[in-house]
Amino acid sequence: MSRTVIRGGTLFDPQTMAMQANETLVIQDGRVVDTNSTTDADLIVDADGQYILPGFIDAHVHFRLATLNFQRLAQWTEVQFGIAMAKLSEETLARGFTSVRDLGGDVVGLKRAIRDGMVRGPDITQANLMISQTGGHGDVESGVLPVPDCGCQMRHSAFGVVADGPDAVRKAARHVLRAGADFLKIHVSGGVATPMDPLDCTQYTAQEIQAAVQEAKNRKTFVSAHAYTPEAIQLAVRNGVKCIEHGNLLDEETARVIAEHDAWMVPTLVTYQGMAEFGKKLGFPERNLKKNETVLASGVESLNIARAAGVKLGWGTDLVGESQVMQRQEFAIRAQVERAEEILHAMYVMNPIILRQPEQIGRLAPGFLGNAVLTSINPLDDIAGLAADDAINQVIQRGQPINT
Ligand SMILES: [Zn+2]
Repeated sequence: MSRTVIRGGTLFDPQTMAMQANETLVIQDGRVVDTNSTTDADLIVDADGQYILPGFIDAHVHFRLATLNFQRLAQWTEVQFGIAMAKLSEETLARGFTSVRDLGGDVVGLKRAIRDGMVRGPDITQANLMISQTGGHGDVESGVLPVPDCGCQMRHSAFGVVADGPDAVRKAARHVLRAGADFLKIHVSGGVATPMDPLDCTQYTAQEIQAAVQEAKNRKTFVSAHAYTPEAIQLAVRNGVKCIEHGNLLDEETARVIAEHDAWMVPTLVTYQGMAEFGKKLGFPERNLKKNETVLASGVESLNIARAAGVKLGWGTDLVGESQVMQRQEFAIRAQVERAEEILHAMYVMNPIILRQPEQIGRLAPGFLGNAVLTSINPLDDIAGLAADDAINQVIQRGQPINT
Protein backbone atom coordinates (compact mmCIF):
# COMPACT_ATOMS: atom_id res chain seq x y z
CA MET A 1 0.00 0.00 0.00
CA SER A 2 1.26 3.49 -0.75
CA ARG A 3 -0.26 6.56 0.76
CA THR A 4 0.32 10.18 -0.25
CA VAL A 5 -1.13 13.03 1.78
CA ILE A 6 -1.44 16.48 0.24
CA ARG A 7 -2.24 18.96 2.98
CA GLY A 8 -2.79 22.61 3.61
CA GLY A 9 -3.87 23.58 0.10
CA THR A 10 -7.14 24.90 -1.34
CA LEU A 11 -8.94 22.10 -3.17
CA PHE A 12 -10.93 22.94 -6.28
CA ASP A 13 -14.01 20.89 -7.16
CA PRO A 14 -15.05 21.50 -10.79
CA GLN A 15 -18.46 19.88 -10.26
CA THR A 16 -19.53 22.71 -7.96
CA MET A 17 -16.80 25.27 -8.80
CA ALA A 18 -16.20 25.39 -5.04
CA MET A 19 -12.87 26.05 -3.34
CA GLN A 20 -12.21 24.28 -0.03
CA ALA A 21 -9.42 25.90 1.97
CA ASN A 22 -6.95 24.03 4.18
CA GLU A 23 -7.94 20.65 2.77
CA THR A 24 -6.23 17.32 3.37
CA LEU A 25 -6.27 15.01 0.38
CA VAL A 26 -5.30 11.37 0.83
CA ILE A 27 -4.31 9.26 -2.19
CA GLN A 28 -3.97 5.55 -1.52
CA ASP A 29 -2.64 3.19 -4.19
CA GLY A 30 -3.29 5.82 -6.85
CA ARG A 31 -6.82 6.80 -5.89
CA VAL A 32 -8.38 9.42 -3.66
CA VAL A 33 -9.79 7.89 -0.49
CA ASP A 34 -12.50 9.14 1.83
CA THR A 35 -10.41 10.15 4.83
CA ASN A 36 -8.36 13.05 6.08
CA SER A 37 -6.22 10.96 8.36
CA THR A 38 -2.55 11.73 7.85
CA THR A 39 -1.28 8.66 9.67
CA ASP A 40 0.71 6.01 7.79
CA ALA A 41 1.62 8.45 5.03
CA ASP A 42 4.53 7.39 2.83
CA LEU A 43 4.75 10.90 1.52
CA ILE A 44 3.40 14.23 2.75
CA VAL A 45 3.14 17.05 0.21
CA ASP A 46 2.83 20.50 1.71
CA ALA A 47 0.43 22.50 -0.46
CA ASP A 48 0.19 25.47 1.86
CA GLY A 49 -0.73 28.61 -0.08
CA GLN A 50 -1.42 26.61 -3.25
CA TYR A 51 -4.46 25.48 -5.17
CA ILE A 52 -4.97 21.76 -5.74
CA LEU A 53 -6.62 21.18 -9.12
CA PRO A 54 -7.48 17.84 -10.69
CA GLY A 55 -4.90 16.84 -13.32
CA PHE A 56 -5.39 18.65 -16.63
CA ILE A 57 -7.14 16.81 -19.47
CA ASP A 58 -6.52 17.49 -23.16
CA ALA A 59 -9.23 15.99 -25.39
CA HIS A 60 -7.32 16.39 -28.67
CA VAL A 61 -3.65 15.50 -29.03
CA HIS A 62 -1.53 13.68 -31.65
CA PHE A 63 1.52 11.96 -30.21
CA ARG A 64 2.26 10.28 -33.56
CA LEU A 65 2.56 13.63 -35.28
CA ALA A 66 5.75 14.17 -33.34
CA THR A 67 7.22 16.89 -35.57
CA LEU A 68 5.69 19.63 -37.67
CA ASN A 69 8.25 18.83 -40.31
CA PHE A 70 6.10 16.33 -42.18
CA GLN A 71 8.78 15.59 -44.76
CA ARG A 72 11.01 14.32 -42.01
CA LEU A 73 8.14 12.65 -40.17
CA ALA A 74 7.28 10.43 -43.12
CA GLN A 75 10.81 9.07 -43.26
CA TRP A 76 11.34 8.31 -39.59
CA THR A 77 11.95 4.77 -38.40
CA GLU A 78 9.99 3.37 -35.46
CA VAL A 79 13.01 4.07 -33.23
CA GLN A 80 12.90 7.75 -34.14
CA PHE A 81 9.15 7.85 -33.59
CA GLY A 82 9.62 6.17 -30.23
CA ILE A 83 12.22 8.66 -29.04
CA ALA A 84 10.20 11.67 -30.21
CA MET A 85 6.90 10.39 -28.82
CA ALA A 86 8.49 9.57 -25.46
CA LYS A 87 9.73 13.14 -25.22
CA LEU A 88 6.31 14.58 -26.06
CA SER A 89 4.68 12.26 -23.58
CA GLU A 90 6.98 13.28 -20.70
CA GLU A 91 6.63 16.98 -21.52
CA THR A 92 2.84 16.70 -21.70
CA LEU A 93 2.72 15.18 -18.22
CA ALA A 94 5.11 17.82 -16.88
CA ARG A 95 2.73 20.52 -18.17
CA GLY A 96 0.07 19.06 -15.87
CA PHE A 97 -1.83 16.90 -18.34
CA THR A 98 -2.42 13.56 -16.64
CA SER A 99 -5.03 12.40 -19.20
CA VAL A 100 -5.18 12.97 -22.94
CA ARG A 101 -7.25 11.78 -25.87
CA ASP A 102 -5.24 11.01 -28.98
CA LEU A 103 -7.12 11.75 -32.19
CA GLY A 104 -5.18 9.74 -34.68
CA GLY A 105 -2.01 7.76 -35.20
CA ASP A 106 -0.79 4.50 -33.73
CA VAL A 107 0.09 5.13 -30.09
CA VAL A 108 -0.32 1.58 -28.80
CA GLY A 109 3.45 1.16 -28.30
CA LEU A 110 3.66 4.43 -26.39
CA LYS A 111 0.76 3.40 -24.15
CA ARG A 112 2.53 0.14 -23.36
CA ALA A 113 5.82 1.89 -22.67
CA ILE A 114 4.06 4.22 -20.22
CA ARG A 115 2.24 1.29 -18.59
CA ASP A 116 5.51 -0.64 -18.19
CA GLY A 117 7.31 2.33 -16.68
CA MET A 118 9.75 2.76 -19.58
CA VAL A 119 8.70 6.36 -19.98
CA ARG A 120 6.47 8.78 -18.12
CA GLY A 121 3.29 10.00 -19.69
CA PRO A 122 -0.39 10.69 -19.26
CA ASP A 123 -3.18 8.13 -19.51
CA ILE A 124 -4.09 7.94 -23.19
CA THR A 125 -7.56 7.40 -24.63
CA GLN A 126 -7.04 6.87 -28.33
CA ALA A 127 -8.63 6.70 -31.76
CA ASN A 128 -5.80 4.66 -33.26
CA LEU A 129 -5.67 5.17 -37.05
CA MET A 130 -7.75 7.99 -38.52
CA ILE A 131 -10.29 6.81 -41.08
CA SER A 132 -10.49 8.92 -44.20
CA GLN A 133 -11.67 8.80 -47.78
CA THR A 134 -9.27 8.82 -50.72
CA GLY A 135 -8.08 12.41 -51.04
CA GLY A 136 -9.42 13.26 -47.59
CA HIS A 137 -7.68 14.97 -44.68
CA GLY A 138 -6.55 11.64 -43.27
CA ASP A 139 -5.38 10.19 -46.57
CA VAL A 140 -1.83 9.62 -45.42
CA GLU A 141 -1.35 6.06 -46.56
CA SER A 142 2.04 5.07 -47.80
CA GLY A 143 2.33 5.37 -51.54
CA VAL A 144 2.93 7.75 -54.39
CA LEU A 145 3.19 11.39 -53.41
CA PRO A 146 0.48 13.39 -55.12
CA VAL A 147 2.22 16.75 -54.81
CA PRO A 148 5.97 16.33 -55.26
CA ASP A 149 6.64 20.04 -54.71
CA CYS A 150 4.88 20.12 -51.39
CA GLY A 151 6.35 19.86 -47.90
CA CYS A 152 3.33 17.96 -46.74
CA GLN A 153 4.51 14.52 -47.71
CA MET A 154 2.97 12.88 -44.73
CA ARG A 155 2.70 9.36 -46.08
CA HIS A 156 2.84 6.77 -43.38
CA SER A 157 0.76 3.75 -42.49
CA ALA A 158 0.94 4.52 -38.75
CA PHE A 159 -1.25 7.63 -39.11
CA GLY A 160 -4.38 6.73 -40.99
CA VAL A 161 -6.31 4.29 -43.09
CA VAL A 162 -8.11 5.12 -46.33
CA ALA A 163 -11.53 3.58 -46.85
CA ASP A 164 -14.09 4.34 -49.57
CA GLY A 165 -17.66 3.07 -49.54
CA PRO A 166 -19.71 1.86 -46.54
CA ASP A 167 -18.28 -1.67 -46.58
CA ALA A 168 -14.70 -0.47 -46.65
CA VAL A 169 -15.42 2.04 -43.88
CA ARG A 170 -17.01 -0.75 -41.85
CA LYS A 171 -13.95 -2.93 -42.32
CA ALA A 172 -11.56 -0.10 -41.48
CA ALA A 173 -13.59 0.65 -38.35
CA ARG A 174 -13.42 -2.98 -37.27
CA HIS A 175 -9.67 -3.09 -37.86
CA VAL A 176 -9.12 0.06 -35.85
CA LEU A 177 -11.34 -1.17 -33.00
CA ARG A 178 -9.51 -4.50 -33.04
CA ALA A 179 -6.23 -2.59 -32.67
CA GLY A 180 -7.55 -1.16 -29.42
CA ALA A 181 -9.20 2.14 -30.40
CA ASP A 182 -11.38 3.56 -27.64
CA PHE A 183 -13.49 5.41 -30.23
CA LEU A 184 -13.37 6.13 -33.97
CA LYS A 185 -12.04 9.20 -35.75
CA ILE A 186 -13.20 10.06 -39.25
CA HIS A 187 -12.68 13.12 -41.45
CA VAL A 188 -15.69 14.83 -43.00
CA SER A 189 -14.14 18.08 -44.23
CA GLY A 190 -10.85 19.34 -45.56
CA GLY A 191 -7.97 20.13 -43.24
CA VAL A 192 -5.16 22.61 -42.77
CA ALA A 193 -2.15 20.30 -42.75
CA THR A 194 -2.93 18.49 -46.00
CA PRO A 195 -2.46 20.25 -49.31
CA MET A 196 -4.88 18.39 -51.55
CA ASP A 197 -8.25 18.83 -49.86
CA PRO A 198 -9.78 22.32 -49.77
CA LEU A 199 -11.15 23.34 -46.36
CA ASP A 200 -14.68 23.64 -47.65
CA CYS A 201 -14.87 20.25 -49.31
CA THR A 202 -17.15 17.67 -47.73
CA GLN A 203 -15.72 14.21 -47.21
CA TYR A 204 -17.69 10.99 -46.88
CA THR A 205 -21.33 10.32 -47.67
CA ALA A 206 -24.17 9.75 -45.22
CA GLN A 207 -23.94 5.99 -45.81
CA GLU A 208 -20.20 5.88 -45.13
CA ILE A 209 -20.60 7.87 -41.92
CA GLN A 210 -23.50 5.65 -40.81
CA ALA A 211 -21.33 2.56 -41.31
CA ALA A 212 -18.68 3.94 -38.94
CA VAL A 213 -21.33 5.04 -36.44
CA GLN A 214 -22.95 1.58 -36.43
CA GLU A 215 -19.61 -0.14 -35.84
CA ALA A 216 -18.82 2.24 -32.99
CA LYS A 217 -22.25 1.64 -31.46
CA ASN A 218 -21.73 -2.11 -31.66
CA ARG A 219 -18.63 -1.61 -29.53
CA LYS A 220 -20.49 0.72 -27.13
CA THR A 221 -18.46 3.69 -28.21
CA PHE A 222 -18.85 6.63 -30.63
CA VAL A 223 -17.44 8.45 -33.62
CA SER A 224 -15.54 11.73 -33.56
CA ALA A 225 -15.30 13.69 -36.80
CA HIS A 226 -12.80 16.26 -37.94
CA ALA A 227 -14.99 19.03 -39.41
CA TYR A 228 -14.79 22.76 -40.10
CA THR A 229 -17.70 23.74 -42.31
CA PRO A 230 -21.43 23.93 -41.43
CA GLU A 231 -22.21 21.52 -44.25
CA ALA A 232 -19.76 18.87 -43.05
CA ILE A 233 -20.66 19.29 -39.38
CA GLN A 234 -24.39 18.91 -40.09
CA LEU A 235 -23.81 15.86 -42.30
CA ALA A 236 -21.79 14.23 -39.52
CA VAL A 237 -24.13 15.02 -36.65
CA ARG A 238 -27.33 14.13 -38.53
CA ASN A 239 -25.79 10.73 -39.29
CA GLY A 240 -24.87 9.91 -35.73
CA VAL A 241 -21.41 11.41 -35.11
CA LYS A 242 -21.18 12.24 -31.41
CA CYS A 243 -18.21 14.59 -31.26
CA ILE A 244 -17.12 17.34 -33.66
CA GLU A 245 -13.42 18.20 -33.58
CA HIS A 246 -12.45 21.85 -34.32
CA GLY A 247 -15.73 23.27 -35.73
CA ASN A 248 -14.09 26.59 -36.57
CA LEU A 249 -16.48 27.70 -39.33
CA LEU A 250 -19.59 26.99 -37.25
CA ASP A 251 -22.74 29.04 -37.95
CA GLU A 252 -25.82 29.50 -35.75
CA GLU A 253 -28.00 26.98 -37.55
CA THR A 254 -25.29 24.32 -37.33
CA ALA A 255 -24.71 25.03 -33.64
CA ARG A 256 -28.44 24.41 -33.06
CA VAL A 257 -28.20 21.09 -34.94
CA ILE A 258 -25.28 19.98 -32.72
CA ALA A 259 -27.18 20.95 -29.57
CA GLU A 260 -30.43 19.27 -30.73
CA HIS A 261 -28.58 16.01 -31.34
CA ASP A 262 -26.84 16.27 -27.98
CA ALA A 263 -23.51 16.03 -29.75
CA TRP A 264 -20.32 17.60 -28.40
CA MET A 265 -17.65 19.84 -29.84
CA VAL A 266 -13.94 20.05 -29.02
CA PRO A 267 -12.56 23.40 -30.21
CA THR A 268 -8.78 23.38 -30.69
CA LEU A 269 -7.78 26.99 -31.16
CA VAL A 270 -4.14 27.09 -30.12
CA THR A 271 -3.08 24.72 -32.89
CA TYR A 272 -3.68 27.40 -35.51
CA GLN A 273 -1.39 29.75 -33.63
CA GLY A 274 1.08 26.91 -33.35
CA MET A 275 0.98 26.31 -37.08
CA ALA A 276 1.34 30.00 -37.84
CA GLU A 277 4.33 30.36 -35.49
CA PHE A 278 6.16 27.12 -36.17
CA GLY A 279 4.85 26.26 -39.64
CA LYS A 280 6.82 28.86 -41.57
CA LYS A 281 10.04 27.96 -39.80
CA LEU A 282 9.59 24.30 -40.62
CA GLY A 283 8.76 24.77 -44.27
CA PHE A 284 4.99 24.46 -44.17
CA PRO A 285 3.69 25.07 -47.70
CA GLU A 286 2.15 28.48 -48.42
CA ARG A 287 -1.11 26.75 -49.36
CA ASN A 288 -1.42 25.24 -45.89
CA LEU A 289 -0.57 28.51 -44.17
CA LYS A 290 -3.36 30.25 -46.14
CA LYS A 291 -5.86 27.64 -44.96
CA ASN A 292 -4.58 28.15 -41.47
CA GLU A 293 -5.35 31.89 -41.59
CA THR A 294 -8.98 31.14 -42.47
CA VAL A 295 -9.63 28.87 -39.49
CA LEU A 296 -7.57 30.99 -37.10
CA ALA A 297 -9.71 34.03 -37.83
CA SER A 298 -13.04 32.26 -37.26
CA GLY A 299 -12.02 30.02 -34.36
CA VAL A 300 -12.75 32.26 -31.38
CA GLU A 301 -16.05 33.41 -32.84
CA SER A 302 -17.15 29.77 -33.16
CA LEU A 303 -17.01 29.52 -29.37
CA ASN A 304 -19.51 32.36 -28.99
CA ILE A 305 -21.84 30.77 -31.50
CA ALA A 306 -21.57 27.35 -29.87
CA ARG A 307 -22.12 28.69 -26.35
CA ALA A 308 -25.16 30.73 -27.42
CA ALA A 309 -26.79 27.59 -28.87
CA GLY A 310 -26.01 25.50 -25.79
CA VAL A 311 -23.47 23.20 -27.46
CA LYS A 312 -21.55 21.11 -24.93
CA LEU A 313 -17.88 22.03 -25.36
CA GLY A 314 -14.77 20.07 -24.42
CA TRP A 315 -11.20 21.36 -24.16
CA GLY A 316 -8.48 20.35 -26.61
CA THR A 317 -5.42 21.63 -28.42
CA ASP A 318 -4.57 19.51 -31.51
CA LEU A 319 -0.98 20.73 -31.38
CA VAL A 320 1.55 18.94 -33.55
CA GLY A 321 5.16 18.14 -32.66
CA GLU A 322 7.28 21.11 -31.59
CA SER A 323 4.24 23.34 -31.09
CA GLN A 324 2.97 21.18 -28.21
CA VAL A 325 4.92 23.46 -25.87
CA MET A 326 2.01 25.89 -26.39
CA GLN A 327 -0.49 23.44 -24.89
CA ARG A 328 -1.62 25.52 -21.90
CA GLN A 329 -2.01 28.64 -24.05
CA GLU A 330 -5.44 27.28 -25.00
CA PHE A 331 -6.56 28.55 -21.56
CA ALA A 332 -5.61 32.10 -22.50
CA ILE A 333 -7.17 31.98 -25.97
CA ARG A 334 -10.49 30.73 -24.63
CA ALA A 335 -10.41 33.31 -21.86
CA GLN A 336 -10.85 35.96 -24.58
CA VAL A 337 -14.50 34.92 -24.94
CA GLU A 338 -15.37 32.46 -22.16
CA ARG A 339 -15.70 32.77 -18.40
CA ALA A 340 -13.30 30.79 -16.20
CA GLU A 341 -16.17 28.56 -15.03
CA GLU A 342 -17.04 27.69 -18.64
CA ILE A 343 -13.44 26.79 -19.51
CA LEU A 344 -13.02 24.72 -16.35
CA HIS A 345 -16.33 22.96 -17.02
CA ALA A 346 -15.11 22.09 -20.53
CA MET A 347 -11.89 20.57 -19.21
CA TYR A 348 -13.06 18.91 -16.02
CA VAL A 349 -16.71 18.02 -16.64
CA MET A 350 -17.08 17.54 -20.41
CA ASN A 351 -13.62 16.11 -21.14
CA PRO A 352 -14.03 13.17 -18.71
CA ILE A 353 -17.28 12.31 -20.52
CA ILE A 354 -15.59 12.63 -23.92
CA LEU A 355 -12.72 10.43 -22.66
CA ARG A 356 -15.37 8.01 -21.34
CA GLN A 357 -14.02 8.15 -17.78
CA PRO A 358 -16.45 10.39 -15.88
CA GLU A 359 -16.01 8.34 -12.69
CA GLN A 360 -12.19 8.34 -12.91
CA ILE A 361 -10.89 11.77 -13.82
CA GLY A 362 -11.81 15.47 -13.57
CA ARG A 363 -12.32 15.53 -9.78
CA LEU A 364 -10.36 14.78 -6.64
CA ALA A 365 -13.21 12.97 -4.90
CA PRO A 366 -13.11 9.52 -3.29
CA GLY A 367 -12.65 6.80 -5.91
CA PHE A 368 -11.18 9.15 -8.54
CA LEU A 369 -7.58 8.84 -9.74
CA GLY A 370 -5.10 10.74 -7.60
CA ASN A 371 -3.99 13.06 -10.41
CA ALA A 372 -3.43 16.65 -9.36
CA VAL A 373 -1.82 19.91 -10.32
CA LEU A 374 -0.51 22.27 -7.63
CA THR A 375 -0.43 25.92 -8.60
CA SER A 376 -0.32 29.31 -6.92
CA ILE A 377 -2.92 30.61 -9.38
CA ASN A 378 -6.61 30.64 -8.49
CA PRO A 379 -8.12 29.45 -11.78
CA LEU A 380 -11.46 31.11 -11.06
CA ASP A 381 -9.73 34.51 -10.79
CA ASP A 382 -7.06 34.11 -13.45
CA ILE A 383 -7.69 31.22 -15.83
CA ALA A 384 -5.41 32.77 -18.47
CA GLY A 385 -2.62 32.73 -15.89
CA LEU A 386 -2.46 28.95 -16.25
CA ALA A 387 -0.94 29.50 -19.69
CA ALA A 388 2.27 30.89 -18.21
CA ASP A 389 5.37 28.70 -18.39
CA ASP A 390 5.85 28.84 -14.62
CA ALA A 391 2.17 28.43 -13.68
CA ILE A 392 2.53 24.88 -12.36
CA ASN A 393 4.41 24.11 -9.13
CA GLN A 394 3.94 20.36 -9.02
CA VAL A 395 2.19 17.56 -10.90
CA ILE A 396 0.97 14.52 -9.01
CA GLN A 397 0.17 11.36 -10.96
CA ARG A 398 -1.67 8.61 -9.07
CA GLY A 399 -0.31 10.02 -5.85
CA GLN A 400 3.29 10.28 -7.05
CA PRO A 401 4.91 13.68 -7.61
CA ILE A 402 6.43 14.14 -11.05
CA ASN A 403 9.68 15.98 -10.51
CA THR A 404 10.26 18.26 -13.42
ZN1 LIG B 1 -6.30 16.66 -34.84
